[in-house]
Amino acid sequence: MRVVFGDGTLAQLPVEAERLEMTRILVLSTPEQRDQAGDILAHLGKRAIGSFDRATMHTPVEITEQALAVVRDKVVDGILSVGGGSTIGLGKAIALRTDLPQIAVPTTYAGSEMTPIIGETKDGEKLTQRTRKVLPETTVYDVSLTLSLPPAISATSGMNAIAHAVEALYAEERNPIISLMAEAAIRALADALPMIVAKPDDRDARHQALYGAWLCGIALGSVGMALHHKLCHVLGGSFNLPHAPTHTVVLPHAVAYNAKGAPDAMRRIASALGAEDAAQGLYDLAQRLGAPLSLAGIGMREADIEQAVAQAAARPYPNPRPIEAAALRRLLQNAYSGQRPA
Ligand code: NAD
Repeated sequence: MRVVFGDGTLAQLPVEAERLEMTRILVLSTPEQRDQAGDILAHLGKRAIGSFDRATMHTPVEITEQALAVVRDKVVDGILSVGGGSTIGLGKAIALRTDLPQIAVPTTYAGSEMTPIIGETKDGEKLTQRTRKVLPETTVYDVSLTLSLPPAISATSGMNAIAHAVEALYAEERNPIISLMAEAAIRALADALPMIVAKPDDRDARHQALYGAWLCGIALGSVGMALHHKLCHVLGGSFNLPHAPTHTVVLPHAVAYNAKGAPDAMRRIASALGAEDAAQGLYDLAQRLGAPLSLAGIGMREADIEQAVAQAAARPYPNPRPIEAAALRRLLQNAYSGQRPA
C-alpha cells in the first residue's frame, strides 16, 4: 500500500490517480461532505466522471447496490473515497465486488483506510470480514481536510483511534513493532486532542492527530482486537449506537476489565497518557475532551444490557482476561451510567 502524508497533499491526487491508471474516477462522500468531494473533483479534472454522496454509517448493502449501479452506468475504473470510516467503508464494499482500485482520502481518525477489514449491514445485522481485496491501493492523508472536523467528532474519533492502539498492546497476536507504534500513537493523540478541542484549526495539533490515527489504523489492521472491539461491535451492530461515541464510552471500562490480565500493556498505556493508571487515564482524557461518558447519554436503553452481555459472551474475541458474564454485566452497567471505571 502506498501512503502520501502531509498538508496540502490533495494537489498530488492527479499523479496518484495516474499511477493507478485511473481515468474514470467516481468520488464517494457522505451528504455532509459534498463540498469536500467537489474540491476533489476539481483537483482530478477530466479523470473524475462524477460523485456519489450517499455513504452511510455501518455500510448498508442497499447503499452499496445504488453505488454499484452508478459504477456500471458510468464505466468507472477507479474509486476515490473522501471522508471517515463510513465513506471509506463504501469504497471497500465496491472494491470487494468489482476489484476496482481505490484511493482513500481520510478526514476522521477512524483508521479504516489502513485495514483489510470490512463490516457491512444487511437486514439489521452487521457482518465483518477480512480480505485484502478491500485494502485501498493508495491513501492520501491531507491535514487540511481535517480542520473542518467538528471538535466533538474529533474527540470521539480520536478516542476511537486510541482504542485500536490500546487493544493492539494486549492483542493475542501483538508484536514488538506494532506495540511500539501503538504506544507512540496513544501519546500523539492524547497530546493533540485537547489542543484540537480548544482550537480546532490548530494545524500542528491536527498534523499530530492524523499521524497518530495513521499509526492506530496500522495497529488495527495488523493484529486482532479483543473485548473492547467486541463490545462496540455488539452495541453498534445490534442497538445502532453511534460508532465513535460508543468506543469513547466503553474504552476505559474495557481496559479496567483487562487490567490484571495485561499488566505490561497497562503500564505502556498509562505512560503514553501521562497517567498513573491506564483505565482512569482514559476516562480522564474523555472527560477533559468533553466527550460522552455514558451509554445512556448516547441512546442505549438499560433494558438492553442483558442482551448485550449475552451477545458479547457468546462468541468472544481472544482476550487477556476470560469473559465472565457477571463481570461483563458490571462493566456495561458502569458504562451505561457513566461512572468511573472500577
Ligand atoms: P463517519 O465516517 O460516519 O463520519 C462522521 C460524520 O463526520 C459524517 O457526517 C461525516 O460526513 C462527517 N465528517 C467526516 N470528516 C469530516 C470533516 N473533515 N469535516 C466535516 N465533517 C466531517 O465516522 P467514522 O467514525 O469515521 O466512521 C464510522 C464507520 O467506520 C463505522 O461504520 C465503522 O464501523 C467504520 N470503521 C471501519 C473500520 C475498518 O477497519 N473497517 C475502522 C474504523 C471504523
